[in-house]
Amino acid sequence: MNNSIITFPSPANEPVKAYLAGSPERVALEKELERQSKIVVDIPIIIGGKEIRTGNTGKVTCPHDHNHVLATYHKVGREEVEMAIEAAMKAREEWRRTPWTTRAAIVMKMAELLATKYRPILNAATMLGQSKNIYQAEIDSACETIDFFRYNVHYASKIYKMQPKNGNGFIDHTEFRPLEGFVLAVTPFNFTSIASNLCMTPVLMGNVALWKPSTTALLSNYYLMQLYKEAGLPDGVVNFLPGSGALIGEVATQSKHFAGIHFTGSTGTFNSLWRQAGDNLGKYIGYPRLVGETGGKDFIFVHPSADPKAVATAAFCGAFEFQGQKCSAASRMYIPKSLWQPVLEDIKKMCDEVKMGSVMDPSNFINAVIDEASFDKCKSYIDYAKAADDAKIVVGGNCDKTVGYFVQPTVIETSNPHFKSMEEEIFGPILTVYPYDDDKVDETVELCDTTSPYGLTGAVFGRDRMAVEKISDALAYAAGNFYINDKPTGAVVGMQPFGGARASGTDDKAGGEFNLIRWVIPRVIKETLVSPTDYRYSYLK
Ligand code: NAD
Repeated sequence: MNNSIITFPSPANEPVKAYLAGSPERVALEKELERQSKIVVDIPIIIGGKEIRTGNTGKVTCPHDHNHVLATYHKVGREEVEMAIEAAMKAREEWRRTPWTTRAAIVMKMAELLATKYRPILNAATMLGQSKNIYQAEIDSACETIDFFRYNVHYASKIYKMQPKNGNGFIDHTEFRPLEGFVLAVTPFNFTSIASNLCMTPVLMGNVALWKPSTTALLSNYYLMQLYKEAGLPDGVVNFLPGSGALIGEVATQSKHFAGIHFTGSTGTFNSLWRQAGDNLGKYIGYPRLVGETGGKDFIFVHPSADPKAVATAAFCGAFEFQGQKCSAASRMYIPKSLWQPVLEDIKKMCDEVKMGSVMDPSNFINAVIDEASFDKCKSYIDYAKAADDAKIVVGGNCDKTVGYFVQPTVIETSNPHFKSMEEEIFGPILTVYPYDDDKVDETVELCDTTSPYGLTGAVFGRDRMAVEKISDALAYAAGNFYINDKPTGAVVGMQPFGGARASGTDDKAGGEFNLIRWVIPRVIKETLVSPTDYRYSYLK
């Protein structure tokens, strides 16, 4: 019997550990890195809690050492995707009826397990498999994942508390029903926390999921499945489907039980999933919920009143941390000509100071980009800039894939505000800068707003607060997460719920209640205590 009204207050964010040499967390992490480096994990498909091995396998390698095989994984075929739909629909019957506080308890246990036993496991897997340094792994696979678990429980409690008014003679209440079917979670490589959150947000609200993990994040994502199981998540609530996204998307969107997509990745992939859902609309029980966070061309806009040191630091960290592969990473900058040289000197100095290499050497600030396709894409933009008349490389520009996929932090300076790399998403450590005439602030703000189809993150720098206000207003639709005098990366759960509009997604804000509400369909119930027995209103009598 559970008749208590349990409260889940707003949690504190998980503290970021320092990993000083010799600290307990550093020792545990080093031990785990060594263990994972010495084994080749066999990653199965997991459907209804059962491990399935199709024998059609692929390899998971270290981006910074691509000869190093971390795991082999089994790919799903059409049959396995259909089995997963069946398993999810079976699990749904019990899961949707499970008291929400029990679901919350399981999710809260995931947070506790990750804060302790699983912390080194997930951090090591994210470092090795996704080439994140210690700090980048800690803020992602440990802290942000834990924050998503704990905050979502708090937000869910707020949603369930949203009840209508009651009058004399009747009782009203709202039931927040999970969607009538399964949710397809399609997740990106760049954040272990996003991969977890895209599954666990619908699941917390009583839904079941088919999970298509990114092939280049499979190692950490497989350990997440182990964490979920240990926390008590029933079999079949999340079904783990490595393999071709195109195949999984096609089979899932053709099912009558398809009820929604929770997606993060590129705009093109989300668009194709949206089209497939549209084409199959007549097959579904209800209108599917399509929630997607997609691409970006995130900017820094510098006003002539800005502090050049602050701009240089933001440009360096915003563009190059985790090799520019954060969806929020700065990739274009508009700067007054009067400030450009001092800022450039500072960026150069920082780039000269940092080292690039394997995650196994903690002194490396920059590691590898995720895979060969990403390396080749970055290199093609650098080569394009080298050959262009209206642009030049002013920092970095070297690439080497002999051992790992290493792209030097690179700054392209251009005199053309519509230069290719000012407009297109690259998703690597490349920042393109357009120095503008100091007296052309308004025109350049307009360029910033209209140059790219995206609207994810952006930052404005300036000490003239009234000018900053004007720019912020002019750029109202250019970013869903907007920063004043700060880099455009580093959103924290509970503080800056994340997402953008335009071609950057549906802006349902991961890490906030706006997202959770997408995974329920409310039913409002009115119960009349003594039912009327006479149809005539009093004026008729
Ligand atoms: P991606 O689109 O290549 O892949 C995302 C997922 O979709 C992967 O699991 C992939 O296997 C799957 N997929 C690929 N083709 C598919 C298809 N035809 N049908 C169904 N699924 C398919 O993106 P990525 O390279 O993993 O991530 C980088 C992209 O993600 C960038 O564009 C970045 O801006 C974006 N991103 C956005 C946010 C945000 O919050 N807006 C956050 C992180 C990443």
